[in-house]
Amino acid sequence: MLVDTYGRVATDLRVSLTDRCNLRCTYCMPEEGLKWLAKPDLLTDDEIVRMVRIATSLLGVTEVRFTGGEPLLRPGLTGIVERCAALDPRPRLSLTTNGIGLARTATALRTAGLDRVNVSLDTLRPEVFHRLTRRDRHRDVLSGLAAARDAGLTPVKINTVLMPGLNDDEAPELLAWAIAEGYELRFIEQMPLDAQHGWKRDGMITAADVLRSLRTRFDLTPEDRERRGAAPAERWVVDGGPHRVGVIASVTRPFCAACDRTRLTADGQVRDCLFARDESDLRGALRSGADDQEIAALWRRAMWGKKAGSGLDDPAFLQPDRPMSAIGG
Ligand code: SAM
Ligand code: SF4
Repeated sequence: MLVDTYGRVATDLRVSLTDRCNLRCTYCMPEEGLKWLAKPDLLTDDEIVRMVRIATSLLGVTEVRFTGGEPLLRPGLTGIVERCAALDPRPRLSLTTNGIGLARTATALRTAGLDRVNVSLDTLRPEVFHRLTRRDRHRDVLSGLAAARDAGLTPVKINTVLMPGLNDDEAPELLAWAIAEGYELRFIEQMPLDAQHGWKRDGMITAADVLRSLRTRFDLTPEDRERRGAAPAERWVVDGGPHRVGVIASVTRPFCAACDRTRLTADGQVRDCLFARDESDLRGALRSGADDQEIAALWRRAMWGKKAGSGLDDPAFLQPDRPMSAIGG
């Protein structure tokens, strides 16, 4: 098992498949993009499947989520999913994506064994989408979402970040729309993980702001705490049910004490936290002939020292060197 000194057990693995992206969300990447990882530095498809096999067969990982950057840009994605779905024990497999290209690939991914997707969508207004992502792809995201639902990659969850002065008035409209379309909406507080270091606590849209805004139109009652487990989203029942809305208050109500995550970057570094400043190089071990048990031991060691919290409230907090797109959100 991947246990840390606080007794937490990591069973949920986030695998970043690429640091590249076809959008430039203002809270994530600068307009000009970033210097991408070089191809030889990326784990190969075989190396990724091997790491997932080690995690699931030797380390107790039961959930695997592929992310990035934009994971749909990884040419071997469907094959990776198929091979991970054939592992024994089989992990639950999901994908976090901006949805561009999902209209073409949703059915193949479902057939390959993908269980679910989370699609990021911050606005229903094409012009606001363009200002937030600096690209004109709103329609592609909407069609990707519908394709995921129709292919049975359900429940389809939507991740939304509200930005002051851009889309912070849209929460009720987004929720009404998500309910009508059969998607589960979750709002995520903006975190200091952008490459440009533009995050400011003052003025960020908090979970409390989101709830206040939603309550202008909906009746919200908190869901049973028991049902939350290690899930980062606190959920509210909308208008008596059955629909729910989630809020991930990573900044104002962090859930570090229940965290069950371990992360693998596209270049084979294990991270014990989004906000970690250290990483453990497993690619080096993979490529120098380490066997599965040796890699598992390195992974255990990497997780053992996980800190109690993100450190966001510490005056000495320093953003990690890698931005969100290169960590894998
Ligand atoms: N490109 C894919 C996508 O957008 O879904 C996967 C990677 S993206 C880094 C994963 C999630 O992180 C997205 O839902 C995105 O909205 C969120 N995200 C990115 N930067 C963030 C930030 N600074 N604060 C909070 N969430 C962020
Ligand atoms: Fe790309 Fe996702 Fe970052 Fe937006 S949030 S720039 S879609 S990696």
